[in-house]
Amino acid sequence: MTNPAPVLELNDVRYRRPGRASFGLDVPKLSLTQGETVLLLGESGSGKSTLLSLICGTIVAQSGAVCVAGTDISSMSSGTRDRFRAEQIGLIFQQFNLLPFASVRDNILLPLRFAPDRAKRVASPLEDVERLCRDLGLPSDVIGARAGLLSVGQQQRVAAARALIGTPPLIVADEPTSSLDAATQTAFLDVLFTQSRAHATTVLMVSHDARLAEQFDRVIQMSDIVKTTRGAA
Ligand code: ADP
Ligand code: MG
Repeated sequence: MTNPAPVLELNDVRYRRPGRASFGLDVPKLSLTQGETVLLLGESGSGKSTLLSLICGTIVAQSGAVCVAGTDISSMSSGTRDRFRAEQIGLIFQQFNLLPFASVRDNILLPLRFAPDRAKRVASPLEDVERLCRDLGLPSDVIGARAGLLSVGQQQRVAAARALIGTPPLIVADEPTSSLDAATQTAFLDVLFTQSRAHATTVLMVSHDARLAEQFDRVIQMSDIVKTTRGAA
């Protein structure tokens, strides 16, 4: 039997941030298969967020290939890449990036507005929002509330629901548990993984916290896959 096509594959990626004090990174190879949960560990400043930006296509490498769900995003126009990202990637940011004055419901449904194919997989948006909130342990009475009024732990679950809706093949999370205590971290990863297992979703999370390692299928050290450069370009 042949291995399934990777959900995420980087080959010979070379990125240099423009500017005088430039930061750069090189990734010879990174490959994630369907349904894997992977923790990418690295110290603060080691380039984790930069690498995730390359994977999501919010920044573009000078050379090399970044393939998501079998398609190289490097050669896409920025508009095409934005739509592709919305279709294929569920994003959880460190600061959650919720719209504070919009309801929890509208925050969760937001990615579907930019991703018609992902939206098609959601037969009944409101029922899906209710189901996700239930599965993630959010009380149903917060669904209509403004996201900005929720506790940090609850906002993080809303961010997870927004990433999970419409079952994108890849979830990318940038230190989403760093502001939570250990018990809440574990509980959050538990519900995230339960959801990802149900849909064979690949999860890539970056963190500086090695204590999270045992909860993931695979742990990768930034220093093993990425070479960084600093200083004059
Ligand atoms: P991490 O997420 O691992 O903490 P980052 O990818 O955020 O690391 O940062 C890598 C390097 O790039 C650091 O040296 C950081 O100071 C620098 N950096 C990050 N964001 C910017 C930016 N917007 N402009 C200039 N330098 C940046
Ligand atoms: Mg970071």
